[in-house]
Amino acid sequence: MMMMMMMMMMMIVMIYRSGACQTYTRLKVNKCCKWCSCPLPSLRHLFQECPHFEAKRRDLARELELDSTFWASVPRVTSKSGWVCYSASPSFEERSWMLVATVRLGAFIARENFTPTERVTSIR
Ligand SMILES: [Zn+2]
Repeated sequence: MMMMMMMMMMMIVMIYRSGACQTYTRLKVNKCCKWCSCPLPSLRHLFQECPHFEAKRRDLARELELDSTFWASVPRVTSKSGWVCYSASPSFEERSWMLVATVRLGAFIARENFTPTERVTSIR
């Protein structure tokens, strides 16, 4: 059971990192965010704006000692796939912690918000 859960989490991280999360905007489905009613919520909305994930953003920033403005300042490529650009910080160590934070938030959002892809469900 634990192995299956770890495989599911790895697949969710892979989906997030590849930029393939199934958002309503990606699916071209005309629906609002189920937590804040924002029209056509993109992954960027969930990652940076949605109040539902504010506590997770705050907890990760505190735990990993990131600047409080970090989440709002990340470029689109980071919010959609967790890729941290060199321009985010000249420090390799700081970029590494940013990567950890973005992947953890992205996986949390993907696990909570999206139906896994057919590839993930076929593992069951
Ligand atoms: Zn929202």
